[in-house]
Amino acid sequence: MEAAAAAVTDHAPLTLAAYRDEVAGCTKCALAKGRTQVVFGAGSPTADLMFVGEAPGFHEDKQGVPFVGAAGQLLNKLLAGIGLTRDDVFVANVLMCRPPGNRDPQPEEIEACEPHLWKKIELIEPKVIATLGNFATKLLSGKPLGITRVHGVEQEVVLGGNSVLLYPLFHPAAALYTPRMLEVLESDFRRLPELMGRTIATPAPVIELVPSAAAEPPAVQLGLF
Ligand code: URA
Repeated sequence: MEAAAAAVTDHAPLTLAAYRDEVAGCTKCALAKGRTQVVFGAGSPTADLMFVGEAPGFHEDKQGVPFVGAAGQLLNKLLAGIGLTRDDVFVANVLMCRPPGNRDPQPEEIEACEPHLWKKIELIEPKVIATLGNFATKLLSGKPLGITRVHGVEQEVVLGGNSVLLYPLFHPAAALYTPRMLEVLESDFRRLPELMGRTIATPAPVIELVPSAAAEPPAVQLGLF
């Protein structure tokens, strides 16, 4: 009986909550040694809109929730401005563990943590992913262009096996201290409802009627940034 139950569990689709439990003890990089806990991300497991920031800070590490400090308060305010709460969206970071002294994420830490982010995207299946700041934008766009050049410009990409609209935004922490940046962030943020309403052109499954049709290369999406 027990063996049968285990077999059923083995084949049950992975849920976001189960994945969270699975990675709570992650030791894939050295940040595991200094953290209080893994900050997996928080919000709706079926959110249409996902945010990806940089890494947990002091308060996030203590509470196990992303964006709970001053930058998080600004994020909440921006969300309220478009009629959303944190429960409507999912918020994650490039890194799940706090870098000491809030230093920048290191390449080996990003590399170790990115499979976790792809998995979250695969399980949540958001329509729009808003990257907050340079680290998330460069990782998810796969391009080295900085946030000052690409903020507010959406691009269709495939992430975690899903077609999503990638939408880079200034990091709220940076906007807190630079009034001009805050204005731009507010203005970029106001486009989110429109982007979420857009239907992403998912390529239709190829039905092979004529053998040569299958040999045609797929349309290439031109990169905006
Ligand atoms: N900044 C981030 O990028 N992420 C957080 O969780 C908090 C601050």
